[in-house]
Amino acid sequence: GVDPRVAHSLVEADLQRRTLVEEWRGPAATSDGRAVELLANVGDAAASEAAHEGGLAQGIGLARTELAFLKSTAEPGVTDQVRAYAQVIAPWRGSKVVVRTLDAGSDKPVAYATLPGEENPALGVRGIRTSGPYPSILANQLDAIAIAAMSAPETRVWVMAPMVSTAAEAKWFADKARGYGLPKVGIMIEVPAAALRAEQLLSIVDFASIGTNDLTQYTMAADRLDGNLASLLDPWQPAVLEMIRHACNGGRATGKPIGVCGEAGGDPLLALVLTGLGVASLSMAPSKVNAVRAALRMHDLATCQQMAAFAVDAP
Ligand code: PEP
Ligand code: MG
Repeated sequence: GVDPRVAHSLVEADLQRRTLVEEWRGPAATSDGRAVELLANVGDAAASEAAHEGGLAQGIGLARTELAFLKSTAEPGVTDQVRAYAQVIAPWRGSKVVVRTLDAGSDKPVAYATLPGEENPALGVRGIRTSGPYPSILANQLDAIAIAAMSAPETRVWVMAPMVSTAAEAKWFADKARGYGLPKVGIMIEVPAAALRAEQLLSIVDFASIGTNDLTQYTMAADRLDGNLASLLDPWQPAVLEMIRHACNGGRATGKPIGVCGEAGGDPLLALVLTGLGVASLSMAPSKVNAVRAALRMHDLATCQQMAAFAVDAP
């Protein structure tokens, strides 16, 4: 058993830490002032409103648009989509909302946007690839996002595509989104190919957001839905961190902001490593924002960079 005095002091220390975490508010930065934008991941209007009410996140870093699609048996009309997106955007006047276009396929089956009979759907037609067989879905969605953005001129609405792998895909998406008047167009970095070629891809778009859930799955060749593979599906895996470092270097070379919007961003310790690697923003479940903010406040940038070096060099 544990010595009761030791147990008591551990509980005390934990309570103190929790109090500190609860007390901290406002913009997030390291102890020496390196700002890191802390944003929320949301899936619908209710979550967006709750995140705003909570007052912890500075904006939305990932609005997953799948929900509107998963709920209906046919593609929702542009008017319905405009309403859904406008409700997600509405609470965030003066802030940023990053809307991700439809990520159908694989673990997000959308009946009317998923090819039947794929043998390996995680490696199949999903994310931006869906635009091949279903071109009008993206066109309608960009139309709806642009209209919703116009209805909220005080919110900075950015748009990004999931599962981009090549410069050609990035260019195709950027041209299309800009054609709808959307001012900031980005890509998700979830495929190793995109991480390795981040500099080239970022020279085409305005920003990138690293999806560590899929980047881990594809770097480690481990199905993200397979509970037997937990040790491989770990964003602390040095190979995954190496991919992230590569992506961040591409951001530095092009002067474009890189964020993280996978689950990894909500781990306070890993958030320090990601800050050390150079990310400009971290997007996470709103409940995780304060612990990450507190961790940042307790460390300086040099320490974060040292942690990043140790983590990437770990066996
Ligand atoms: C990710 O892959 O890390 C991500 C944020 O996207 P999703 O989890 O929706 O695939
Ligand atoms: Mg993903």
